[in-house]
Amino acid sequence: MTVSSSIPSPVTRFAPSPTGLLHLGHAYSALVASRLGHGYILRIDDIDHTRCRPEFTSEICRDLEFLGLPWRGDPIFQSHRLDAYADALASLRARDLVYPCFLTRTELAEVLSAPQEAPVATDSAISASEAHRRSKQGVAPAWRLRTAAALDLVGDLTWRDLRGGVNRPVEMTVHGDVVLARRDIGTSYHLSVVVDDSLDGVTLVTRGADLEDSTHIHRLLQALLNLPSPAYFHHDLVRDTAGSRLAKRHDAQSIQHLREAGQSAEDIITSLPPAPDSLPFGLDF
Ligand code: GLU
Repeated sequence: MTVSSSIPSPVTRFAPSPTGLLHLGHAYSALVASRLGHGYILRIDDIDHTRCRPEFTSEICRDLEFLGLPWRGDPIFQSHRLDAYADALASLRARDLVYPCFLTRTELAEVLSAPQEAPVATDSAISASEAHRRSKQGVAPAWRLRTAAALDLVGDLTWRDLRGGVNRPVEMTVHGDVVLARRDIGTSYHLSVVVDDSLDGVTLVTRGADLEDSTHIHRLLQALLNLPSPAYFHHDLVRDTAGSRLAKRHDAQSIQHLREAGQSAEDIITSLPPAPDSLPFGLDF
């Protein structure tokens, strides 16, 4: 069953990180967002200043225009929204739903590699006095979610999977006490994304199947932060002829390279898997 076009289009977004050129996998994500949303919001996920570069943002915009996939309004930049992410973190801190993690990379690797039945609370890996000493020395902590406490607080939760047409129960076992704020940037992909999708009024998140696991975290954060929960459509990943997932580092698959090699936008779009142009299940299933 598909939903008739008289129903208003969902608000979708395409959210590339400007850490490299736009490649075929991104083009497919943008195509799915554009078809299902009849246009989309372009959000530049540029919080990680160690990896993002403004010149990639310009290239991404140029390639999307070349492909005939224009976005609606002005692009939105995560780097302009650090205060909103800090407010969300402060709200979780005020309710003791996050804890500071002072472990070094090596200590963390040791803790996480030890056999364990349930995800560890990494704050118990060093003593409170050692954590205090590091804090006094000016070591910035990462902030981790108290996942068990958070799940207790919100009770049973589901997210709407429009690919499968079901409400999926939130499952956090593999994630453990996920980092919500990195020590170097004060936020994380997970925290930023739920704040953004709410600020932007996104009603349908379209993104690759590689991010499906993260949706469980996002749904939990929406419940904790009292934010609306969009529906989700995780599309198949674009693969090369050998069946491997395309990687950003393969510049031969970049739109820029294909354009310079003489391919037209139409050649590129038709080389992608067909994108759905209507939702297999309505937003209100
Ligand atoms: N910025 C993420 C990426 O490039 C996508 C974020 C999302 O769609 O939630 O992989």
